[in-house]
Amino acid sequence: MSRQADRLLERILAGSAAEDSPVTHHSRIPARHGRTEPWPDWAPAEVIEAIQRGGIPHPWAHQRQAADLAWSGRHVVLATGTASGKSLGYQLPALSALCGDDSGTDRAGTVLYLAPTKALAADQLRAITGLGLGPVRAATYDGDTPRTERDWVRAHANWVFTNPDMLHFGLLAGHSRWQRLLRGLRYIVVDECHTYRGVFGSHVALLLRRLRRIAEHYGAEPVFVLASATMADAAEFATRLTGEACEEVTEDASPRGARTVVLWEPPLQPEITGENGAPIRRSAGAEAARVLTDLVTEGARTLVFVRSRRGAELTALTAGRALAEVDPDLADQVAAYRGGLLGEERRDLEARLMDGRLCGVATTNALELGVDISGLDAAVLAGYPGTLASFWQQAGRAGRAGAESLVVYIARDDPLDTYLVHHPEALLERSFESAVLDPGNPHVMAPHLVCAAAELPLRAGELARFGESTRVLLDDLTAEGTLRRRSSGWYWTSLRHPHEQVGIRGSGGEQITVVEGDTARVLGTVDPATACSTVHPGAVYLHQGVSYVVDDLDLERCLAFVHPEDPEWNTSARTVTDITVVEESTREVAGGISMALGRVAVTEQVVGYLRKLPSGEVLDQVPLDLPEQTLETRAVWYSINEDLLNGRAPGGAWLEPARVPGALHAAEHAAIGLLPLFATCDRWDIGGVSTALHADTGEATVFVHDGHPGGAGFADRGYATLIPWLAATREAIAYCECPAGCPSCVQSPKCGNGNEPLDKAGAVAVLDIVLGAVRRDEKARA
Ligand SMILES: [Zn+2]
Ligand SMILES: [Zn+2]
Repeated sequence: MSRQADRLLERILAGSAAEDSPVTHHSRIPARHGRTEPWPDWAPAEVIEAIQRGGIPHPWAHQRQAADLAWSGRHVVLATGTASGKSLGYQLPALSALCGDDSGTDRAGTVLYLAPTKALAADQLRAITGLGLGPVRAATYDGDTPRTERDWVRAHANWVFTNPDMLHFGLLAGHSRWQRLLRGLRYIVVDECHTYRGVFGSHVALLLRRLRRIAEHYGAEPVFVLASATMADAAEFATRLTGEACEEVTEDASPRGARTVVLWEPPLQPEITGENGAPIRRSAGAEAARVLTDLVTEGARTLVFVRSRRGAELTALTAGRALAEVDPDLADQVAAYRGGLLGEERRDLEARLMDGRLCGVATTNALELGVDISGLDAAVLAGYPGTLASFWQQAGRAGRAGAESLVVYIARDDPLDTYLVHHPEALLERSFESAVLDPGNPHVMAPHLVCAAAELPLRAGELARFGESTRVLLDDLTAEGTLRRRSSGWYWTSLRHPHEQVGIRGSGGEQITVVEGDTARVLGTVDPATACSTVHPGAVYLHQGVSYVVDDLDLERCLAFVHPEDPEWNTSARTVTDITVVEESTREVAGGISMALGRVAVTEQVVGYLRKLPSGEVLDQVPLDLPEQTLETRAVWYSINEDLLNGRAPGGAWLEPARVPGALHAAEHAAIGLLPLFATCDRWDIGGVSTALHADTGEATVFVHDGHPGGAGFADRGYATLIPWLAATREAIAYCECPAGCPSCVQSPKCGNGNEPLDKAGAVAVLDIVLGAVRRDEKARA
């Protein structure tokens, strides 16, 4: 008997000849049976009955375990797969705290729930109110909550659903008005906590420390209950995020259908050439639209994940057109699920997909997707979503009990995707990376200390909560007059709250506001560190799928003026970059290779931009005159002894001196592309500089640095995994079948130098020299 997944796979491969099949790997993950537990004795009968009425006869073992820990007062993180019912893990203790009267007194407990997006908070609120439990007065408090309703929430709600932004600007800034909620606070639920990584994660970590401090001030001792996608070291991550020792529950006891996973590399298109004549692959989006068409024709309910909103719409549109040719009725069975949809429209779309009225939906990677979609026949991932956790979260949308589902991962044109489709073990057998964040970054911490002092004067005895460097930072803030030191602690001196000046999503410094010139409508903000390269005059700026062109960038007033325009090209900035080592924190030398980590200053000047067609073809280069910008951040770097590069030292290789810059530059690009495999970052969160002779190291050097002031922990993680990272980088380059470098290996979409010079073979030689020297050194020591 042919399994459903095999039949679907046969169908999507029907178009390609066996010898040039795009499939690089194909494997099957067996089904898993579920394991339940009885309801806990401590949960009130009315709570259990309400949950049972909602269709849950018994909790899965992991739900019960997390709920028990939380109920006993232990901070806990529940990190299990998609659709494993993580919500029940916090709902059970939270509802019991609100409804239960186990002590015979009304303890008037309250719960605060934090989600990274408004949509998710709204979904969770709906689930709670749907239970119809009398004592539960649940409400959202976010940017959309009307003024009049806010008063009600403050006065009466005992379960408040909000997000980090409102916690910062609303709840903490005006905490005295939230006394009732804060005094009774039993649980702080942090949902989808794996999304709090990098600079944003560091901000949230400090927000949670501020929240617990204020709650303690009102006499509460709230317990943190965190829910996360599967990740390595969940307890350690949760502890770093909350500042409190957390326990973890990671064994998923929910049932799962068998899955067939297929890795797919689109073919090179010999007739089209990109930058510097490089060959280009068929785009993952176009390939996904084709696969979606075939799957819908077979009646398989499919979700396609695409990187951008525009891409999602294009994929749905392309598939719809192709289906119309097969059968006009089928064309209406595909849709795009995009941001900006109203709650009602979103739920309608989810419902139509779940009951089969819709067969295929294309969506972005973001968390915009509601919690209710799972159990589909197929999931198609157009491009690696950045982390293994997201990969499995998306793949996990497919898989109905009893039926075998299909997961197709289509590589995009970049080195990380290339590496993964050729190294299935790195995708299918590796344990998940834990999220990287660094709440100790002084650039992030200082503004939070100011806010904390404004909320309540900071006492010397409570500084440990914020981390080691707190005291030094407070002294600096006092010296510059931001805070005032008195014998009882540190005080904020102004009447106005500092909160509005502190953005919790940026990396510090005043954000550049993007304004539509004609209407004065504010479209969004851009980090000051990247403004010159993203909103320079002439840049094409995308906002919620709409295209704008920048007319003027006013750095003094922090404004960028744009007008709507959708030219056929996109733009990429040309920059001149310089890097200096400010302080080396650690360094290791092995067989002529130096590897180091430390603080650096990156000076960058945008000198012009390229206009490129979507095919990658370059139209022209336009010069610009913009000021230099300096970024103080952290970097990891390695440098190579000259004798190794010219083959005089054993294990070296003769690399013509003229080739060295291109070889290092190519190795740098690919390394930036591969770091997200080891640190939970995006290649846009990091940058690099390479040079054949660096003044500070005196050798050929490749630097990879964090893209935010003070760093977000990515360079540190890179240093900790330097050798496996460089080994994967070498493999990604060597495995690409292009002759001399392409976007799948050494070309970078964000290169400030127009991807020149690049030497693909030279990069492999350089990495072989580095890895060989380090391995020989290890052997010699062993
Ligand atoms: Zn290539
Ligand atoms: Zn470059």
